Amino acid sequence: MKFIDEYRDPDLVRHLLDAVAALAARVGRRISLMEICGTHTHAIGRFGIRRLLPENIRLISGPGCPVCVTSIHDVDRALYLADRPHVVFATFGDMLRVPGTGGRSLQRLRAAGADVRIVSSTLDSLRLAEENPEKEVVFMGIGFETTAPTVASAIRKAGLKGLNNYSVFSVHKTVPQAISALIEDPELSIDGFICPGHVSVITGVDAYKRIPETGRAAVITGFEPVDILEGILMILRQLQEGRFEVAIQYARGVNREGNPQALNMMGEVFETREAEWRGLGRIPQSGLFIRERYADFDALRKGNLPEIRSIEFEACRCGEILRGVISPEECRLFGKVCTPANPVGPCMVSSEGTCAAYLKYEIHN
Ligand code: SF4
Repeated sequence: MKFIDEYRDPDLVRHLLDAVAALAARVGRRISLMEICGTHTHAIGRFGIRRLLPENIRLISGPGCPVCVTSIHDVDRALYLADRPHVVFATFGDMLRVPGTGGRSLQRLRAAGADVRIVSSTLDSLRLAEENPEKEVVFMGIGFETTAPTVASAIRKAGLKGLNNYSVFSVHKTVPQAISALIEDPELSIDGFICPGHVSVITGVDAYKRIPETGRAAVITGFEPVDILEGILMILRQLQEGRFEVAIQYARGVNREGNPQALNMMGEVFETREAEWRGLGRIPQSGLFIRERYADFDALRKGNLPEIRSIEFEACRCGEILRGVISPEECRLFGKVCTPANPVGPCMVSSEGTCAAYLKYEIHN
């Protein structure tokens, strides 16, 4: 634990909080910062950081939970793909209870007899295909630049092994395009972005260059209290000096170039096209779709999907939460009708969801 303890050291945390308070006072106005990533939202809640910050700093939670930003239409398409004979549908556990149109979910489908399995890694889904040659194994590829390279690698491996009973339903998305959409959102006014450490290990710094170009501060931080507070301090320095850049706090994990090998792997298997995000709508070049070259492993091409009409459950305000225009307490279902045991929307289902984080850490503590 020595390595982690350094980043939770109470004296250092106190020192950073004092420095943040002093600098926030010097900036002297209301400051809105967005943590893009769901892991940051949970860390901020878990360590009580929101409540320790000076009153003029507001932390807004953004769209960085992959399950939450998956559109209801993609949930419905997953349900269609899973509900076919001779299909094993493999997915990460968080996806199981996400409701589609009419409250259907993979969990309910499984209870009704569909072969839906939870896997803990992409390689597990490949193994399933090898072990079940008489079945079509469909893996739901979900996540940002952190997970997309591993799924690209699995598709490549399936090609090399000639695993023709394996395919991927890719709903992978890219973070920089979502940030651009948030910057252009007229309902939002964000002074600085707390960028995700793990995504940045892959993308490097250039992915965020739009942020300083539009007069906003950016910092890539890790997920411990010292990381987050130091990151906020680095943002405040930029605001105070009026000099904007993508600063790296998480230097132990991120370098400026990212991981070229992983980026090449993604580029070989996926192409970017417009994708639909829950809450953020259609964002150009933000979806990772399987290239023609790997069409044999594309569940959408193989699945012959019909036209599916999806209907959002209007009372759920996940869309506005993902854009950062309201916080979970403003949803009238929050903590009453909608709880982790009985989630109405994905922001309460997912372990990275904002509503789940607020209910667990921000309300009951
Ligand atoms: Fe949706 Fe539940 Fe969050 Fe309300 S509390 S926005 S219903 S997930």
